Amino acid sequence: MGASGPVKITVLGSGTSVGVPTPGCHCDVCESSDPRDNRLRPSVLLQYDGHNVVIDTTPDFRTQVLRARLDRLDAVLFTHSHADHIMGLDDVRPFNFRQQARIPIFASADTLSAIQRSFQYIFNGGEQQSSVPRLDIHTLNGGSFELFGQEFLPVRLLHGRSSIYGFRFGRAAYLTDHSEIPEESMEQLRGLDVLFLDALRHTPHPTHSTVERSLKTVEQLAPSRAFFTHICHDLPHQETEDALPPNIRLAYDGLEITVEEGG
Ligand SMILES: [Zn+2]
Ligand SMILES: [Zn+2]
Ligand SMILES: [Zn+2]
Repeated sequence: MGASGPVKITVLGSGTSVGVPTPGCHCDVCESSDPRDNRLRPSVLLQYDGHNVVIDTTPDFRTQVLRARLDRLDAVLFTHSHADHIMGLDDVRPFNFRQQARIPIFASADTLSAIQRSFQYIFNGGEQQSSVPRLDIHTLNGGSFELFGQEFLPVRLLHGRSSIYGFRFGRAAYLTDHSEIPEESMEQLRGLDVLFLDALRHTPHPTHSTVERSLKTVEQLAPSRAFFTHICHDLPHQETEDALPPNIRLAYDGLEITVEEGG
């Protein structure tokens, strides 16, 4: 992959689709005073060479970019079209205004058509009385692509019966929602420094990985460091981490990791 400088990864949200605390729930994790048990919907911010790229625009996108004090947004990559990954898309408008420019978005054809159905008003092309996001659409076909000098490789994952994308960039990869990683994708994930991956809870789930399953994936891929994300309220941060090997941690909102070599 093309050489480049360091990439700083900030976890904007480490929670599952309903977030933690989960509305209506009064369990120990939902009522925990440990800030790491507060999880917005799943997303990461990648910063490199003066550019800001986010993976997915969650329903919490506005809160997340305010919290990260983001003053510029250069691109959005989408993993798939589930509501917890796309519903904040309307909130890119302030960046359109500030930057006086369209924002490029990257997604598979399936994800793009679902985004177009969910946000018809953005794409209907008619004269708009109020502002709508202004986007440049890029369709991913599985091949790698370059974005502001960093190479990105879409990595196919199985999320129950649907096929979605994770992304590898240099020596890091972000693999949210998946129940299985196809063998050819495993081959694309060798030699990683940092691996983020789905670990919803301990109990098996038809569309998500679990702590136990993701531990096996980490064993197979042997990255230097791994971070579990898309976490539900079954997992108290401290207690869960205490039972993990030292190179595997639970992601939490606000966690910052720098990958030295974009590679
Ligand atoms: Zn999700
Ligand atoms: Zn709860
Ligand atoms: Zn999903």
